[in-house]
Amino acid sequence: MNLQNEQIPRIIGVYSGSKKGPLLFVTAGVHGNEPSGVLALQKMFSELQHAKPYISGTIVGVLGNRAALQTGQRFIDEDLNRAWTEKKVTAESAPTSEQQEMKEIIAVLERFPEEAYTKRYFLDCHTTSAETLPFISVQNVGDNDAWAHHFPVHIVRGFSDLVYGCIDHYFSRIGITGFVLEAGQHDSVDSAANHEAILWLALQEACGLNLHTLISYPKCVQTLTKSNTTWKTFEIAYRHELKKEDTFEMQPGFKNFQKIEKDQLLALQNGKEVRSLWNACIYMPLYQSQGNDGFFVVKEVNGK
Ligand SMILES: [Zn+2]
Repeated sequence: MNLQNEQIPRIIGVYSGSKKGPLLFVTAGVHGNEPSGVLALQKMFSELQHAKPYISGTIVGVLGNRAALQTGQRFIDEDLNRAWTEKKVTAESAPTSEQQEMKEIIAVLERFPEEAYTKRYFLDCHTTSAETLPFISVQNVGDNDAWAHHFPVHIVRGFSDLVYGCIDHYFSRIGITGFVLEAGQHDSVDSAANHEAILWLALQEACGLNLHTLISYPKCVQTLTKSNTTWKTFEIAYRHELKKEDTFEMQPGFKNFQKIEKDQLLALQNGKEVRSLWNACIYMPLYQSQGNDGFFVVKEVNGK
């Protein structure tokens, strides 16, 4: 599953209903080693073009890190999902490949202005290096969290408050409602299906799509909604940030949201043991060479 050497246009697809309604602005491949969201969007737009179902408003699918997707790397010069700071967004120049990508994505968004829609939503598609159930990462501002609770997946609050320069922080800052969807492990076949399922559900929830008006009811939606998992809401309790010079090796086999106990060995950092200080759950353990965070710890929020 990769998109290397493929020339995919910045706009993967646009589909509109005849009536004014909301905008659903979907970004995928903001990390170049995460093609799953792009594949899901391509499949979705192809089905929309065939079935031509009624929706109110517009869905647009936008390619994230175009240059990095072509080489299959997470990024070229800097992490595109750390570049959306006030300073870099407003800078005249774009000295890195990623800042150029960012300017191009903003230029696409400007073609879908606030006044043309009843509301604007965003959805940013990612995958993780560790095995995981699909989940939403949401910044708890405006109505983001209430919107996120329309979907049958775990919800984690607060990532983009801790990690500076995420694309969802930018969208939220300019008044667009939405979240990040982490659909599964980078190479898992389930990831594209999970992306696709949440995209269909988002189109149903935001733009009134009746999923029965498609040529066939999407299997991926059935699979996700029939899962027996109890979906929970979590908050981030701790971030294990790494310095550039650190050597870091996560203990093998941790799955995202796996329970951890106090004193459990989690990783080796510069040859020294890193042990848990919490009875909680591990979140985003690092199993790839590029990345600034070793792991996070999350705690379940009672009563959501
Ligand atoms: Zn990502």
